This record gives sequence, C-alpha cells and structure tokens, in this order.
Amino acid sequence: MSHNQPQNKERILIKGAYLMTQDNKLGNFVGDVLVADGRIVEVGRDLSDDRARVVEGTGNAVLPGFIDTHRHNWQGALRNLGPAWTYEEYRSNVQIGLGQHFEPRDVHVGNLAADLMSLDSGVTTVRDESHISNSPEHSDAAIAAHWESGIRAVFDHGWPSTEAEQWQFGSNRTHPADIRRIRNEVLSDDSARVTLNAMLRGPELSTPDVSAQDIRLARELGLRISMHVGLGEWGADQQAIRQLAETGLLASDMTFIHCCTSTDEELRMLAAHGATASVAGALEVFMPGLGQPATNRLLAAGVRPSLSVDTETIVSGDMFGVMRATLAYQQLILAGAAGPMDRIADLPTFDAADLLSFATIEGARAAGIDNRTGSLTAGKEADLIMIRLDHANLLPATNVAATIVAGGHAGNVDMVVVAGDVLKENGVLKAADTVFDEAAASRDRLFHAAGLPLPA
Ligand SMILES: [Zn+2]
Repeated sequence: MSHNQPQNKERILIKGAYLMTQDNKLGNFVGDVLVADGRIVEVGRDLSDDRARVVEGTGNAVLPGFIDTHRHNWQGALRNLGPAWTYEEYRSNVQIGLGQHFEPRDVHVGNLAADLMSLDSGVTTVRDESHISNSPEHSDAAIAAHWESGIRAVFDHGWPSTEAEQWQFGSNRTHPADIRRIRNEVLSDDSARVTLNAMLRGPELSTPDVSAQDIRLARELGLRISMHVGLGEWGADQQAIRQLAETGLLASDMTFIHCCTSTDEELRMLAAHGATASVAGALEVFMPGLGQPATNRLLAAGVRPSLSVDTETIVSGDMFGVMRATLAYQQLILAGAAGPMDRIADLPTFDAADLLSFATIEGARAAGIDNRTGSLTAGKEADLIMIRLDHANLLPATNVAATIVAGGHAGNVDMVVVAGDVLKENGVLKAADTVFDEAAASRDRLFHAAGLPLPA
C-alpha cells in the first residue's frame, strides 16, 4: 500500500544534548544520539559518524516524544470551544449535537488539525479514540489523516456519533462490524506507523453481554483494547473493571481510560491482571462530572499510568498542560482538598521526573508499543524531541525535568522526529498551512448543519 506521507528519513547525529532517555539502564546524561534508517542506532558519549548530519544539541534536552494515550482526534477543528463545559454540556454539544453531522472530510481535517498541533508540541504518538465511525468512509478519512501528518498513530476504532444516545450507557448494540474490514484490508500490519486497536464501550457503556461479545471480537482480530471507565457516579455504580475481572475478561491487553470513580479494589484488579491506565489529568480537573484524576490511587495499586489529552474542545492538546494539571490535582490532595476517593495518608506521590515517564515510556507500554518507541534505546524507532532550554521562559534552567514540567510549552519544542522523519526543526513545523483554514471551514459547516450559532 502506498501512502501520502513524509519520507525524509535522514542520518542524524545529535551532539552534546542533555538526554532524558527514559531507559532505566541509561538514565539521564549529556551525550549523543545517532539516528539512521528511521531507527535509533546508538545512544552514548562522543559518538561520531562521517555520513550523518550533525545537529548541535548543547544546552538542549532530548527525550523520546510524548505519547498521548487517548485523544478524540476527530474534534480537532472544534478545539478550545468550551473550557468551562460540564460533562453533560460536552456530550450534548459535541458527541450528540455536532458529531452526527460530521462528514468524512470533517473527520479528515479534524484529525489532521489534531495531529499537527500534537507534533508541534512534541507529541510523536497519539492513540486516536475514534468514536466517529458514522460510516466506513469516516474511519478511512481518520486513518488517511494519520498517514499524511507523519505522526505515529494507534487508531482505536470506536462507535458512531450518529444516534449517539443509543450507543452508550446501557447500549445493546454490538461494536460496528466495519472493524473487521479495517483489520483485514486497511490496518493489517502491526509494524506500520499507523496501527489498529479497538475502542470498546465495555460493561459501563453497553451491557455485560455486548461487552463480552465485543471483547471476543477484538481478541479474535488480534487487537488491543481501550475502554472508558470510572466516569462519574455512573461509573462508580457500574464498576466495569470488577465486572470484567469477575467474568474472566480482564487482561493485559486492556487500557482503562479515566478510572476516576473506579474503586481502589478495582485498580488493584487492573494491576494484578497487567492492564494499563490512561489519566486525562487536565480534562478531569477542568470538566465537572467525571471525578478526579486517579494518578495517586493508581500508583498505590502498583500502576504507573500513562497520560492523555482526551478532548481538545475543553483542554489544550499539548502534554505540558496535561502534566501540570495532573500535578496540580496531587497538590490539592496534599493541601487537604482532595476528592472523596483520595485519602492522603495512603497515597504515594509523584514528581516532575515521574510525569515525564508517564508521558513517554508509560504511554508506550499502555499502547503496547514499548518495543518500538517510548525511550531513547538503540534499536527502537526514532521518535524523539529536542526541547530548547535557553528560551526566556525557561532560563535559568536548574533541574531539567522540573523546568520542562513547570515551564515548558510547544514553542520550546525545537525539533520533532517520528520514525526518523524530521517533522519540526528550528522550531518550525513542516506542514501544509492550509489545514487550519480547512478546519475553520469545517467548523463553520458543522455548526450550520447542527443549527447552532458559533459561540461568541
Ligand atoms: Zn475520552
């Protein structure tokens, strides 16, 4: 299959950077990274290579690209609409109000807009939770955008946004059968830059029988599974993780998103079965109705979580904001202002260095691609970012992890490499600049189709 995609794999030697490898054997040190044929060839000190283009890294930090383990990319043209929306407002405005009017071209440009802002802010892998499967063409359009943008994408095929209310909260419809076609004809290669997973509703958003059928389908197709659980009071009542454990369906191929109101016992079940978790720390503190980030409770259960953006309609799509918001909620716990599920005395804490590992290697583990990406390790695919530390907002840089987490933003991301393709360099994203004009036109068309006024 041929794809319209970046193909500028260079031989690059990054010299003298502060390497935050996220590889436990290597740790952090000032050194060099050699990239060739799309892979990391060597990570060490005083490397030389006659054929490589040398990139001066002195004074900069180099780390594996950020991995966002849960974003609804199709909403990229609707970004920043409702920072003060409640969960119900988000559902009625976006999933129910606008989602049913999406045409494939809207999915395409939304996904492209989401991918490009992700790359610009140092996200090299996104797990696209695509609950916009209104037709096969919608899914194909989403996947095409990932090939075009150059990002590494795990495409999690979900349910439609047409008849949205029939597809959630007790739905008796089984997962759309089109996932078989996508698996067999579109995304059959698990070593490609774009791969397939299944975004399932599970027992919390469908029925136990439907959930079991969907899980069996995903496993028959050899697909990992993501599932939204622990959503507000509904999630606390349903206890989806416990249901899965009791029916023998809970396994290490599952990533549980949010877990805000999952019980501590459920989180221990998740850990015992080797499953993984995705904390959307910014979205969860911004949007009333879901519950609070479960980061510290997950750590107490023995799970190092990954991090995710969720919906750009409410929060910024960069991982700097996600890391800061996730930390902000921990600090509220420490200040005695925790939500009802957090008890300070029992909870382990995390720091800036932990957050960087959640946003990189733990994301790769959650997406099941840690053999390919997530750390600066020889043999892995070359997904890395360089962050300038000599910008006014970061100087004087002291502890580098703290500097990046407390002060970093997309403008500090100087270089972005995915699978050896240089997609941003010298602070400039290499991308078609008409995408955002098309995104604005898509937004206008969608609001018109839904009979809604553009928010003033
Ligand atoms: Zn979500």
